[in-house]
Amino acid sequence: MELVFDGHNDVLLRLWRNMKAGGDPIAEFMKGTSSGHIDGPRAKAGGLAGGLCAIYIPSGDLVLKEPDANGHYVTPLSAPLDHLPSLTIALEKAAIALRLDRAGAWRLCRSTAEIRKAMHDGIFAAVMHMEGSEAIDADLDNLEVFHAAGLRSLGPVWSRHNIFGHGVPFAFPMSPDTGPGLTDLGFELVRACNRLGILIDLSHITEKGFWDVAKTSDQPLIASHSNAHALTPVARNLTDRQMDAIRESGGLVGLNYAVTMLRDDGRDNVSTPLSDMIRHVDYMVKRMGIDHVALGSDFDGASIPEEIQDAAGNQNLVAALRGAGYADAELTKLCRENWLRVLGKAWHE
Ligand SMILES: [Zn+2]
Repeated sequence: MELVFDGHNDVLLRLWRNMKAGGDPIAEFMKGTSSGHIDGPRAKAGGLAGGLCAIYIPSGDLVLKEPDANGHYVTPLSAPLDHLPSLTIALEKAAIALRLDRAGAWRLCRSTAEIRKAMHDGIFAAVMHMEGSEAIDADLDNLEVFHAAGLRSLGPVWSRHNIFGHGVPFAFPMSPDTGPGLTDLGFELVRACNRLGILIDLSHITEKGFWDVAKTSDQPLIASHSNAHALTPVARNLTDRQMDAIRESGGLVGLNYAVTMLRDDGRDNVSTPLSDMIRHVDYMVKRMGIDHVALGSDFDGASIPEEIQDAAGNQNLVAALRGAGYADAELTKLCRENWLRVLGKAWHE
């Protein structure tokens, strides 16, 4: 089995929602459940050895627009969120991550050595990620505190605007060049992440914001869960020029399993063949090289192909990649080593 370290999941969102409905997140993760995509037993069964676990603040007003007869849709951006309620939710999710670690349900990792150790010990290697920075204040005090709590990766924006920058809407077909980029505070946030050793994630940011980070950050450029715009022209996917910049920086793109970002018709249809995933991997490998492509499933955050279904089915993708001609050494890079390389760089190892 080829162990996978994955660039993006929303398991903390699912555990938090179920906790709010009376569930026990520790028991749910340790014993397993039929809800969603990731828990300890299913991760183990599918060789999902670890990943970046997002602290995401839900947008209550998000309703994805139905496509028209041509399959086209534009979901308006969600409204900006207030800081204090966002901070409260972020703390609740960070607390779940810390309690899972304390209970031995997973290991919250702060270095690539800790990730390798957890994978070797057969325990899920979680890295705390923040998807959208609404919980961070303008003075960046909370960035310091979250870093101390284990935060090692951060997307300045989700698909909405905040004090740091601007996000892209869920729309098909649409260019990622949908508006302004980083604000002055956003540039400060990037420099602070560089200093602290927090990876900056460019998934969900506008193309302008992407270039603002590219000219400011000293890290490899990363889009943790995005695909090729040339194949599926949603605003969330990356143009060839963006991919060229990612390659030149030594960064990577994590393949997003969301069917709306894989299919050429952009439809939310789970009977999407694995060949659509291979098509995106092939395209990105051809454009950037094998060192710059990885996985970023979006488990627990998106509709994914039914041939994978959940974390337990993750090796079906690995088998399909092998069937498409990827050799063992290439699979190792795609499945985990590329992520470990860029995390080590961003974390000043
Ligand atoms: Zn996302």
